[in-house]
Amino acid sequence: MRAWRAAHAFDGERFFTGGVTVLMEDDTIVAVESEAFEVPADCEVTTYAGTLLPGLIDCHVHLVFDGSPNGLELTGSLTDDELDTRIETALAAQVAAGVTTVRDLGDVRYRTVVARDRARPGLPRILAAGPPLTTPGGHCHFLGGVIDADHPAERAIAEHAEHGVDVIKVMASGGILTPDSDQFGAQFATTELRTLVDLAHARGLKLRTHAHSLLGMERAVAAGVDGIEHFSGLRPGGSVFPEALLAATAAANISVCPTLGTDRSRMPPGMALPPGFVKVFGELGLPTEPAGAALFDRFLELRQAAVRLAYAAGIRIVSGSDAGVGPPKPHGCLQLAVQELASAIPFADALASATSWAADDCGVPAGRLRPGLSADLLVVDGDLRTDPTALGRPTAVLVRGRPADQ
Ligand SMILES: [Zn+2]
Repeated sequence: MRAWRAAHAFDGERFFTGGVTVLMEDDTIVAVESEAFEVPADCEVTTYAGTLLPGLIDCHVHLVFDGSPNGLELTGSLTDDELDTRIETALAAQVAAGVTTVRDLGDVRYRTVVARDRARPGLPRILAAGPPLTTPGGHCHFLGGVIDADHPAERAIAEHAEHGVDVIKVMASGGILTPDSDQFGAQFATTELRTLVDLAHARGLKLRTHAHSLLGMERAVAAGVDGIEHFSGLRPGGSVFPEALLAATAAANISVCPTLGTDRSRMPPGMALPPGFVKVFGELGLPTEPAGAALFDRFLELRQAAVRLAYAAGIRIVSGSDAGVGPPKPHGCLQLAVQELASAIPFADALASATSWAADDCGVPAGRLRPGLSADLLVVDGDLRTDPTALGRPTAVLVRGRPADQ
């Protein structure tokens, strides 16, 4: 038996008063005690001055994307070896940032499923969706998940299930990083989405939808999906969140992952707005020049306002970063998503969205300091309760009881 002890602690739901001692046997937490707890004589104790909390869970990543500008469309042309190298690099960056579980919501040729089954000790646990399902020419069509007459929904879901995916991802609206797709409309009819949901559920798989548009969100809720990514409420000329839609989303227990988190230090001072953002910002009446990171300020405010409404309506919020999709979204940027979320909801709940609430949403035995759960632990430098930026200063990480392999 061994133990990690720290002066401060967050248990996945709330901050402790005082510190904590977490006792572990192999890959499992066996007891959670006070800082002063007297451990058995044969128990090796490591003591930290900072805050101990469960390892973070990033509910929305793309391990096959490496954060390079305009790199998405080229990903499908990489070899399996090149994709596998990208995945390993991304996992190392994630665990270095304290992330011990990732949910991958879009890959190429099921390479993240292969990586999941390799399960290297010290790297994050993976849940994988395989290629996201979309329409011909629709968002991320170049990743290989197009549904059409030659490749209907039944076959697509069957193939995903046969490859052993953990979850199904469907693009219910266009996406900003596929500029020619329809970010303000819907890619599937409600009946088509419902068919996909039923097929997924029949195989025991949850289905999550990407939806920036209000229409996509409305159809996703009507179809009974399990989760919505982005949740931007876009319609021509603006962004709206009707009360009825928020209430229906909460009533159906559909979780929302707002994919916040932007690393501005990765955006060069004169960076021009990518074409998809020019299109969306233009429609929303947001400035598209001069070039630079400040252009994203109002879009972030709009998305934080959406989270505030969703939270007030009782919708379950989970945190995911969309890591990999571009320069401001490097792997390991989840702590920025939590910080941005904390401008809209209480900090302890923002942390829960990346630990306990995320674990419940992903169905993994982690996300809390609790006996019987996986020994996925993170220590950050400082008192996280009084200094939220401490989340960006990880000092020690355990994944299933093993030290992080960086
Ligand atoms: Zn994504």
